[in-house]
Amino acid sequence: GAAREALAKLVVDVPDFPEPGILFKDITPLLADHSGFAAVVAALAAAGCDADGTPVVDKVVGMEARGFILAAPVALALGTGFVPVRKAGKLPRHTHAVSYALEYGEATLELHQDSVEPGDRVLLVDDVLATGGTARATRELIEACGGTAHGLTVLMELGFLAGRDAVGDLAVSTLMTV
Ligand code: 5GP
Repeated sequence: GAAREALAKLVVDVPDFPEPGILFKDITPLLADHSGFAAVVAALAAAGCDADGTPVVDKVVGMEARGFILAAPVALALGTGFVPVRKAGKLPRHTHAVSYALEYGEATLELHQDSVEPGDRVLLVDDVLATGGTARATRELIEACGGTAHGLTVLMELGFLAGRDAVGDLAVSTLMTV
């Protein structure tokens, strides 16, 4: 479809960013292209709908920072609100926090405690699924509020990092596997 074509054409591989040996997927040319951006937002939003195309989620969560850019228009497309998951120390009110291991060191993500209500079904949106650490922590944050993770939808999955295995039974939909 149009979304996959846009991804293939407009995501740029950048070698050795942010460190030597990493091939970074730069999505900014895709975001700058109106029809490409619109196509991927529509495709991501489909993950929050049933087979008839009816929205079935109550909230859309985006993970800092590129997840914000995608999750906000997905939320509007689904008729829901948008909720940010942020790195430690950025959210001003009471938060839940989850820490997880990185290759070197640790990362902490936070969610406002009242941003997801008990019983809410939540769609997680990010640009890239790599090791799955971000997605797994985000799911824990949603569950700490009493919500349920409906699924994770991403533009690209880096298959060789096996993030899908790391997120357990969380449903993952991806527009492209690299
Ligand atoms: P994970 O926690 O699954 O290892 O990493 C996923 C997070 O890292 C996502 O929030 C994503 O934005 C970022 N990320 C990792 N690799 C890439 C990449 O090659 N390109 C982009 N755009 N983001 C990446």
